[in-house]
Amino acid sequence: MVVEQILEFHTEAEIRQAINTCQSTFKSGHTRPVEFRRRQLQQLWLLLDDNKDALAQAVYNDLRKARSEFMLGEIVTTLEDINHALENLDKWTKDEYTTPSFINRVGTTCHLRKEPKGAALIISPWNYPVFLCFAPLAGAIAAGCTAIVKPSELSPHSSKLMTELIPKYLDNSAYLVVNGAVTETSLLLEAKWNHIFYTGNGNVAKIIMKAATKDLTSLTLELGGKSPCIIDENCNLAVAAKRVAFGKAFNSGQTCIAPDYVLITEKAEEQFIAELKKSFLELYGENPQNSPDYARMINNRHFHRAMNLLNGSKSGTRVLDGKSDEADLFIPPIVIANCARNDKLMEEELFAPFLPMIRVRDVDDAIEFINSHDDPLVLYIFSTDKKFCNKVMDQTQSGGVLINDTLMHVGETSLPFGGIGPSGMGAYHGKASFDCFTHVRSTMTKGLNPTLEKIMAVRYAPYSEQKLKM
Ligand code: NAD
Repeated sequence: MVVEQILEFHTEAEIRQAINTCQSTFKSGHTRPVEFRRRQLQQLWLLLDDNKDALAQAVYNDLRKARSEFMLGEIVTTLEDINHALENLDKWTKDEYTTPSFINRVGTTCHLRKEPKGAALIISPWNYPVFLCFAPLAGAIAAGCTAIVKPSELSPHSSKLMTELIPKYLDNSAYLVVNGAVTETSLLLEAKWNHIFYTGNGNVAKIIMKAATKDLTSLTLELGGKSPCIIDENCNLAVAAKRVAFGKAFNSGQTCIAPDYVLITEKAEEQFIAELKKSFLELYGENPQNSPDYARMINNRHFHRAMNLLNGSKSGTRVLDGKSDEADLFIPPIVIANCARNDKLMEEELFAPFLPMIRVRDVDDAIEFINSHDDPLVLYIFSTDKKFCNKVMDQTQSGGVLINDTLMHVGETSLPFGGIGPSGMGAYHGKASFDCFTHVRSTMTKGLNPTLEKIMAVRYAPYSEQKLKM
């Protein structure tokens, strides 16, 4: 797949024009009225609903992602977020009044104005191309911002279609698309933004953060990392294995919140492996390459990146294995039992359908292992023992926690979604998406009644002990 043959990159002049439009439209106040935001959110909803078949096909062309996986992972999640914003927009945008404290008790009103941050830049990756462009965009619209969306050049079919659809449905003076790779994104980053929202890998995040420092622009970073699964040997191993297999194989492991590896005791290992094998078989059959439900690696570079990790792995036993096919960008689910703690597969985020299993002595050993790595985007705990769960949560850090399932928290509008440290900064989804693009402007109003001056006399010089006693 030659990206440039599918996706036309924007020229420098077009990019400068888009930046100009985005910034001047915000300054004109066009996107501030709540009614405008509501209409645009409704239009975004229609864009997704009217075109779900075409979008499903585009994502299939990029990733061979099955329609059901696309609907669940990209359409339902985004529509839920838009619905939630539409239902709550009036409440979220309303001024909030606070009670003044002692020093301002008299003649003072305090309130919080929910103001749009301004012109926003949204940079998205390729693995969930629709969800990761439109969910942040919904937040920007709800907050009253203007925005440029920069979809990933690595998912060119999806990016091309979104580029065609956005101007058909949304106000094109406020919401624009720029296509390109490093050169074009670097040009975008030279501009002065009021907020930058980046989803992608941690190395590029450092470039984005550096660019944001020049104007001290606020930033949301939605990154990845190695999200562990810790298995309590006393839990229902069959259900746990099914849910781990689901989370691992979804989009062929190319999911920021994919369970990256498993921590398990030797006692539970054998049964868990048997259940994992059974689960993968139920999900994708004897040969996942023939399954219509199993996605492909995005491109050759990522296929080789993943295979290099696998080929560099020198420890453990492959208890589930299969042949990869470069021409088809296919890698089967591969489970490696009793993987060494310093194995190649434990060096970086896998972003591939490999599941290394690390043997731990007990929960303390598992906690120590998690804490010797970067704080993950999500920590998966499989246990119905509250003490076990609380111990793990109390003694570790992560962006989020999901107990007894994988992936499903990402579509939950009542929970903010985001990382911590190397797995990200800031959060979105539900109300958090609105907050992310909103500046809460603290506003205090005083009366000018001269009689108030008596009460306020204490603050004026000349100071005296007597005034303080009043
Ligand atoms: P990618 O290669 O598509 O890059 C993401 C975006 O950054 C693209 O729009 C790309 O054009 C831009 N970009 C790339 N290099 C750049 C540079 N040098 N300067 C400026 N912009 C540049 O996607 P990726 O990074 O491979 O995405 C996968 C990563 O994203 C994984 O680490 C995954 O965990 C993470 N991710 C996180 C989330 C989340 O919500 N936290 C969601 C999806 C993916």
